[in-house]
Amino acid sequence: MRRDQGPSVAVVGGSIAGCAAALAARRAGAGAITVHERAGGALDSRGVGIALHDDRYAELAGAGYVDASMPWVQMTTRHWYVRDDAASPLGRRLWAQPFPFRTYNWGSLWRELRRRVPSDVDVRAGSPVREVAAAPDGDGVLIRAGDGPAERFDLVVGADGYRSVVRAAACGDVLPQYAGYTAWRGAFPVDRLSAPGRWPEDECAYVVFPGGHLIVYRIPAHAGAGQHANWVLYATPPPGHAPAPDSPVSLPPGTAPQPLRDRLGYIAEELLPPYWGELVRLTTAEELILQPLYDFTAERYTAPGMALTGDAATVARPHTGAGAVKALQDATALEAALTGAPDVAAALAAYDADRAPVGRTMVTLGRRLGRELVERTPDWPSMDRAALEAWWGAMDGAGAFGGRSIARDGD
Ligand SMILES: Cc1cc2nc3c(=O)[nH]c(=O)nc-3n(C[C@H](O)[C@H](O)[C@H](O)COP(=O)(O)OP(=O)(O)OC[C@H]3O[C@@H](n4cnc5c(N)ncnc54)[C@H](O)[C@@H]3O)c2cc1C
Repeated sequence: MRRDQGPSVAVVGGSIAGCAAALAARRAGAGAITVHERAGGALDSRGVGIALHDDRYAELAGAGYVDASMPWVQMTTRHWYVRDDAASPLGRRLWAQPFPFRTYNWGSLWRELRRRVPSDVDVRAGSPVREVAAAPDGDGVLIRAGDGPAERFDLVVGADGYRSVVRAAACGDVLPQYAGYTAWRGAFPVDRLSAPGRWPEDECAYVVFPGGHLIVYRIPAHAGAGQHANWVLYATPPPGHAPAPDSPVSLPPGTAPQPLRDRLGYIAEELLPPYWGELVRLTTAEELILQPLYDFTAERYTAPGMALTGDAATVARPHTGAGAVKALQDATALEAALTGAPDVAAALAAYDADRAPVGRTMVTLGRRLGRELVERTPDWPSMDRAALEAWWGAMDGAGAFGGRSIARDGD
């Protein structure tokens, strides 16, 4: 598509997927681009850790969406530990698995992506989009933000996350499914640990217990000084504490109900090896985030004049290690589709054919991993390296953990 005649584009949502989609649209030669973000201020003070597989990073860097200016910590190895009171405070090491990932502070990743949004893009913060609908005359899509008038666009990109208004307009109800368990998350300065040096900097720890697991890795501190110990623990909540269907995607720091804090305290004390139990207990209530887990994928990623990206299109369980990768790859795919097609309709057909199968693959993988890692965990102490390797290979034979290659040959 030529720049002087490029389609007008509205991006709904200004987080990871939204910033990347605005960049994609500009590179593909769109005309006027507007980003509507519901939140009033910068998003970068929120969020904890996020990881990108080295190979996916290299592809995204080659495509120009990420680069080394985004502070990261390099991981090399994932050590699997299980509590064994006779062994070291870290627990008994079951397996050392290669783990070629870069870890990021979500806030600085977002800030760097936001910085890449070209200055001629009209970014409107504090602008919640309330209505999205095909124009009655068939010419484009109308959106209404806040109390403003309806505006017409040739293309509306839904980058508005899990409860997307664009998805509702594009494909009606897609009901997210509750996974039946919750993530507890936290991050705090590594120096708070009594023995930070006992845990190597390039090690991601996978600490398994009956009915769940804890993942720990270092991330750069928010302001760039030092490192934070970032952790996420998956387990079922106590009976009666499943989230209500309309409950928020995550409970902000400082608001976790006491029974859920008690359940975490029990796991830290009784099920984790002492070092990792201490790490969890050192997290203050203001640093603790609760995230009930859901997943879904939209059957189609597009409707006339509309495209879905990132979490608006698909939320896979985080065991896949690929939420941000998928959002960024969606943007590169949108750029390629818009660049290569004669008009918006052809671009949307190409984009849907490319990305909808990836969403389905990642949701399926997330469910498989969740079943084995949380819902019906194996007898961990009896697993040796060979057993774990075979078990992991059976779950992720296609190697989709960390995200599929953009250049894959097929699904
Ligand atoms: C503040 C924040 C912190 C996060 N921290 C982490 C983290 O630490 N680790 C991690 O793994 N993942 C984190 N995530 C989730 C992660 O960004 C996503 O899972 C993934 O990267 C895909 O991003 P996304 O842009 O598709 O969705 P999201 O990041 O969920 O972004 C959706 C955006 O759309 C906006 N929005 C929603 N509805 C509307 C509307 N009607 N009108 C206008 N705007 C709307 C939201 O305000 C939000 O900014 C965080 C998300 C947010 C918003």
